[in-house]
Amino acid sequence: MSGITPDISDFATKENLDYYDDLTFGKWLKNIGITIKSCLTGLAITGKVILTKKAVTIEYPEVREELPSNSRSRLFNDVDNCIACLQCAAACPVDCIYITATRRDKEAPKLKTDDGTPIKLDLKQYTIDTALCCYCGLCTVVCPTECLTHTTDYEFSQYTVGEMKYDYLEEDIRAWKHRIVK
Ligand code: SF4
Ligand code: SF4
Repeated sequence: MSGITPDISDFATKENLDYYDDLTFGKWLKNIGITIKSCLTGLAITGKVILTKKAVTIEYPEVREELPSNSRSRLFNDVDNCIACLQCAAACPVDCIYITATRRDKEAPKLKTDDGTPIKLDLKQYTIDTALCCYCGLCTVVCPTECLTHTTDYEFSQYTVGEMKYDYLEEDIRAWKHRIVK
């Protein structure tokens, strides 16, 4: 072979030329038989895989997988049970939890969380920048009232990084509590 273009004479070996010179009707039929057999062999392998193997993909978004209950996906803080103890923010390795709270008025009605823990501070801000979060789960482990949890919700992509910062005191974010991935 010379240069980039193959020289046709390179393929015109004695064996090749002899084969085509000797091509009889019988050999021609045999070639067709071999071709059909190899196609059927390939189709049989494909058919066996289709019928016996479980599909590894799903037709998302029409079909949605439900994550295991212990998945560490979107964080949710049920702020009505948050005592603003700051333990989650202290445990966070990337400092993406921002909490503001003020001391409760002494005259204000006494409040308790669902597990009976007194609420001594008024939560003014509870924000997590989920664009920074590495989903390590440390914040949920230390939460004394277990109000901060990972959910199995994985559909929370946004158009901008700024939109990944969630204030859990906002009504639309509170509504996540009842959101279930179907
Ligand atoms: S999961 Fe980890 S990185 Fe994310 S907010 Fe909690 S402690 Fe911080
Ligand atoms: S650890 Fe729990 S209770 Fe304490 S501030 Fe964080 S979310 Fe609220």
